[in-house]
Amino acid sequence: MSEPVTLRVENTVAVISIENPPVNALSHAVRSGLAEKIQSAISDDAVKAIVLTAEGRTFPAGADVREFGRPRETPILSQVCDLLESSPKPTIAAVHGNALGGGFELALACHYRVVLRSAKLGLPEVKLGVLPGGGGTQRVPRIVGAAAALDLMLTGKPISAQKALDLGLVDQMAEADVADAAMAMARNVIADGSKTRPTRERVEGLQDAVGFANAIAARREKKKNDPQPSVAEIINCVEAAQILPFEAGLAKERAAFDECETGPEATAMRHAFFAERRAVKVPELKGATLREVKLIGVVGAGTMGAGIAIACLDAGFPVVLVERDQDGLERGIQRIVANYDKSVAKGRIDAATGEERLSRLTGTTKMQDLAPVDLIIEAVFEDEQVKRNVFAQLDAVMKPGGILATNTSYLDIDALAATISRPQDVVGYHFFSPAHIMKLLEVVVGGKTDSNVVATGFELARKLRKVPVRAGVADGFIGNRVLAAYRLAADFMLEDGATPAQIDAAMRAYGFPIGPYQVLDMAGLDISWARRKRLAATRAPEDRYVAIGDKICEQGWFGQKAGRGYYIHDQDGGPVENPDVLAIVEEERRLQGIAPRSFSEQEIQERCLFAMANEGARLVSEGVALRPSDVDVVLLYGYGFPRHRGGPMMAADQAGLLTVKNALTNWQVEEPRFWAPSPLFDELIKNGKKFGDL
Ligand code: NAD
Repeated sequence: MSEPVTLRVENTVAVISIENPPVNALSHAVRSGLAEKIQSAISDDAVKAIVLTAEGRTFPAGADVREFGRPRETPILSQVCDLLESSPKPTIAAVHGNALGGGFELALACHYRVVLRSAKLGLPEVKLGVLPGGGGTQRVPRIVGAAAALDLMLTGKPISAQKALDLGLVDQMAEADVADAAMAMARNVIADGSKTRPTRERVEGLQDAVGFANAIAARREKKKNDPQPSVAEIINCVEAAQILPFEAGLAKERAAFDECETGPEATAMRHAFFAERRAVKVPELKGATLREVKLIGVVGAGTMGAGIAIACLDAGFPVVLVERDQDGLERGIQRIVANYDKSVAKGRIDAATGEERLSRLTGTTKMQDLAPVDLIIEAVFEDEQVKRNVFAQLDAVMKPGGILATNTSYLDIDALAATISRPQDVVGYHFFSPAHIMKLLEVVVGGKTDSNVVATGFELARKLRKVPVRAGVADGFIGNRVLAAYRLAADFMLEDGATPAQIDAAMRAYGFPIGPYQVLDMAGLDISWARRKRLAATRAPEDRYVAIGDKICEQGWFGQKAGRGYYIHDQDGGPVENPDVLAIVEEERRLQGIAPRSFSEQEIQERCLFAMANEGARLVSEGVALRPSDVDVVLLYGYGFPRHRGGPMMAADQAGLLTVKNALTNWQVEEPRFWAPSPLFDELIKNGKKFGDL
């Protein structure tokens, strides 16, 4: 293999170039190459200035993911940065593409920076539970002050070249060839006396001492309950830039980085990062030919259909939207128009973009209008008979080779597919609400689904910027099956002595944005009631059944939309506990002869999490989920599972599988079937393995 870092001297300028495709990640070989070439450029008397550049599509876009979580071999990045910064000859970074993380830090250690107009610069480390470890926390605030530095590091969002120029983080913008522009700058700097300008000596960001301290205090207050240690550490390190000498600040940054990197949160976030990338590795993709999707049809313009149409329009597809009557169609179109109006009003898109997207939408009440469509996504009522009727109509009009995807939440896709003449074209593309925002797409593979249809689902997800996960046919697929277990565990505790508010608070404390009863109130209690009714016939009589939800629904208290559910929503100042629900709960306890007991926050969290992990393990054993990490991806992207916990399977790994299995076994005396540990626990435990090893 050719060297990942090369050095050539043009007149008196040394050009050090990184070539480590695809994204010039800062692997050990790159860091070593950089250190060596920087040193030889410094010791070459013919060299008066050094330009640092990268081949291919980008300046280094970050660390090498394969080295994540492992001890770094020297030279570590901060040593390379130190070499660049302490060079007695001026160093100039020529930045194009995405200079992220370590890549941006490398540029920050240079004395001058030239960036291509299209470049993006960012410090996204917080998204992996760590912080910039190559001096970023010390150099950025010295240039831009605390507020802008913290925005960059706490959001992890990249900024444009223009923004970087405005902030003073870069010195010059290049319109075309950034390496040429950097060479021109090098010649000017040489002509000007070869002045160096180490970032560590810059003070403009530190001058407003009070503003700096206030920005720190404000972020610290805002983030005081953030469970991620790296968030607090980023704030501490930026503060250190003001109060400590540079070297001491760097040492603090290094210690904080090491501490965060090996902690459970960063471990979980790295797992989430890799799990998402693994999820697209599914057997159907091997050797599959994609079906062409140019025109998309959506049937049903309700909550989901409208959201799915928006997602497709946003991705550039023309969409034919079908409703059963004119009124329904107008309501659906109105939802879509309102969405774009809101996006324009909030400045997310400009008016012309909104109009262009809407211009690709055709509304109709005639199924025949779907004849030219390549892919139909069905999102009508969750009712087997309604869906069967719609499937029959679609079978009659769809073109040969067209894909028929259903957005059903629970129904048996194989049973639906069996009712039409082309079961091989039927698949589940299960979106989550709101469909244009939520990232998850479960691609549900039926017994007869053609591999090409599955592969096309993964390709569609990529175009819609969704995170796809393969699921097999099962009631609720992956996500809603795990959700059902979560809710059942919560319902048992509710009947045994906890309150909805206590359970919700415990799960929020764990990191969920809202608790399970808040979710029910938001989504509508009638949806899960309908599912319970549908499954009533299949329920084993010995299984414990909690009827509290049914009793609430019988009152018409369907949640937020009805003003009442587990909470009362029609009061000023937000939802409050519903005393009538508490009375129903008490009555149910009396009827069941249950003496209420108290639950600690930890027990509530453990019961909910271990129930989820156990259901996830069952899904893996049944082949509904390909691997435990897929269960995690589903929960992370579709159900608000806190990213710093990595998903229920990761949480079980971190708790220890033996601990989880023992807890499940102990709870089995209460409810033998529900709490029965999946056999996967024993299989893994006896081999000294974890879910993460599968
Ligand atoms: P909804 O009631 O909001 O919308 C359904 C729409 O389908 C209605 O506008 C209705 O007029 C239309 N419709 C009914 N029969 C039709 C027909 N024959 N032809 C054309 N249109 C017809 O329901 P929703 O919440 O959007 O759910 C739709 C599907 O998506 C269901 O299968 C549901 O399980 C699933 N889903 C819902 C959610 C959610 O959170 N709401 C999430 C994921 C999946």
